[in-house]
Amino acid sequence: AKAAGGRRHRWYASELDSQAGEEARLGADLRTALSTGQFHLVYQPIVALPAGDVVGVESLVRWRHPDRGPVSPADFIPVAERNGLIIELGQWILRTACEQYRTWQSRGVAPAHVGVNVSARQLAEPGFVDSVAAVLAETGMSPHDLVVEITETTVFGGGVAVRAVQELHELGIAIALDDFGTGHSSLGVLQAVPVKILKVDKSFIDNVTVSDRHAVIASSLIQLTGGLGLIAIAEGVETAEQAEALHRLGYRRAQGYHFGRPVADPFAPRSDVAAQVA
Ligand code: C2E
Ligand code: CA
Ligand code: CA
Ligand code: CA
Repeated sequence: AKAAGGRRHRWYASELDSQAGEEARLGADLRTALSTGQFHLVYQPIVALPAGDVVGVESLVRWRHPDRGPVSPADFIPVAERNGLIIELGQWILRTACEQYRTWQSRGVAPAHVGVNVSARQLAEPGFVDSVAAVLAETGMSPHDLVVEITETTVFGGGVAVRAVQELHELGIAIALDDFGTGHSSLGVLQAVPVKILKVDKSFIDNVTVSDRHAVIASSLIQLTGGLGLIAIAEGVETAEQAEALHRLGYRRAQGYHFGRPVADPFAPRSDVAAQVA
């Protein structure tokens, strides 16, 4: 029994070693990726219901690894948070999104706002708010056109984060609370920081047409946002049926594959098509 235990222990140890190795490799690759331009941003439309007019976009980072191919942000963002690269990467993401927004403005196609996801580690970093203000000044971006998306964990990473969110709000930046309803104290966040937008998590949207319970929750969240004077965005809307049900429940904003996938430029002139026709 002792030998078996020992073997089991060794197995766990080597498993941990390989996990640590994988994490270190990915972390090192991330650093190279930033200095060699392997990241790019895509933008997903946020639309008004029921017509589907684009009112905003959310920026989402993409990484094409030279050997592994596309790596999901759900996999590499946590690694970048742990090895600290998220500070530099986050700055690059913010600057790139602001520059892209300014380009849309100069082409006369800019939506009302662009959203940028910000992680806990960034908000807790001293000087973060100053660095945001600097990017706004350098790109000529108005704070009123920027939405910073945070999650409950971002806020409750520490008191510093609450302070930083308040300062972003004071700059005139709108705060969106992402993945609303999935945490343990989503309502607590609403008391702690000046949120303007609630992004209702996809898990509540998925079954809104098939489950009365989900419809009741989705409806209660609309009552809540209405009562607090907030804007609700339904996340992950994949079908026309969901969009119709959400509109009936009172939703006026939505995002999801049904309306548009994240793409490099949702407002690109359709020059290719025009060229083909011409
Ligand atoms: P999130 O902020 O909740 O972003 C929404 C995710 O849902 C995106 O996945 C988007 O592509 C996906 N999505 C949108 N509509 C639909 C739909 O109708 N169906 C389904 N199945 N999925 C949909 P993505 O781009 O893979 O990002 C995953 C997560 O990684 C994000 O979740 C966010 O937490 C993080 N992330 C992505 N980009 C950034 C970034 O620039 N900075 C930071 N800090 N985190 C990011
Ligand atoms: Ca988000
Ligand atoms: Ca989300
Ligand atoms: Ca999320």
